[in-house]
Amino acid sequence: MTSEKKIIAVQPLGRARRDVLEVIAANLQAFFQIRTEVFLDQPIPDGAYNSQRGQYNCYPIIESLRISKPHHAIKIIGVTEVDLFIPILTYVFGEAELGGNAAVVSTYRLARGKDREPVSSRRLFERAAKIAVHEMGHTFRLPHCKEDRCIMSSFPVLSHIDEKTIYFCRYCTTFLRDEYEKLGFA
Ligand SMILES: [Zn+2]
Ligand SMILES: [Zn+2]
Repeated sequence: MTSEKKIIAVQPLGRARRDVLEVIAANLQAFFQIRTEVFLDQPIPDGAYNSQRGQYNCYPIIESLRISKPHHAIKIIGVTEVDLFIPILTYVFGEAELGGNAAVVSTYRLARGKDREPVSSRRLFERAAKIAVHEMGHTFRLPHCKEDRCIMSSFPVLSHIDEKTIYFCRYCTTFLRDEYEKLGFA
């Protein structure tokens, strides 16, 4: 297996802006050096919606992505505009299986600023790319990083995301390189 033959699948779930999908695909390709492909829209899986919370649970979405992932994709990342949660948190920007195949990101909370006014497309693109790279990092077994500037540090709030550049610290770069070696990537 070489990284040239495998791809990262970018899977729109429900409605997702085409330009956002392209930005996510381009950033993942650049930072992980693995070709990306934007797939055709799929509906959000049944059972993900929680009517009490009015939000979608990440876990059934990730489960369904893992099952639908084609063989030639080493990883799959769902992209959606709906609001996501995991049971212990009120909302999340994204979620991933640590060392698994699947991740999901939402632009729901990325599209607006502090005063709820819509942010520029450029800001939305930056935020979406950062979340996608961060979640994809988790699928390559990268845990949260203590280095504040690193894209793998945790980001509970949007202002924290906006301060970051897309950058892996030395520790995370080495960790990722080791993981690639284990996976048999060149
Ligand atoms: Zn994280
Ligand atoms: Zn780091």
